[in-house]
Amino acid sequence: MEKRPTGNPRYANGALRRKYRARLRAMGGPCGICHGRLGPIHYDEPSDAAHPLSFVIDEIKPVSKWRQFGYASPRAAAEDWGNLQPAHYFCNAQKGNKTGVFVADSGQKITKSPKISDGNW
Ligand SMILES: [Zn+2]
Repeated sequence: MEKRPTGNPRYANGALRRKYRARLRAMGGPCGICHGRLGPIHYDEPSDAAHPLSFVIDEIKPVSKWRQFGYASPRAAAEDWGNLQPAHYFCNAQKGNKTGVFVADSGQKITKSPKISDGNW
């Protein structure tokens, strides 16, 4: 048996997420963030940094702020169909990195982390 961490609500219910993904893909709508400014979503491409116009699910209200938006749990926010919209990989990444420095080709944030030593003082 494979053990997987269940801490992240986005991945806690993979089956439902896949269903939502399939539904959004079938609807074939425009990106909810740029509203088609960058063109249609490339639904047939893999969702990664190499395909900035590929399809990802965007949470309109960030799951991390579930309390603020009145959800019962982070999972409730992640699974609320009304909170989901299709988006470009690129647009979603930019939105998600508002508070950090966006690195287009890696999707990683550059943050200054304090140096913490766990050795003896
Ligand atoms: Zn977009």
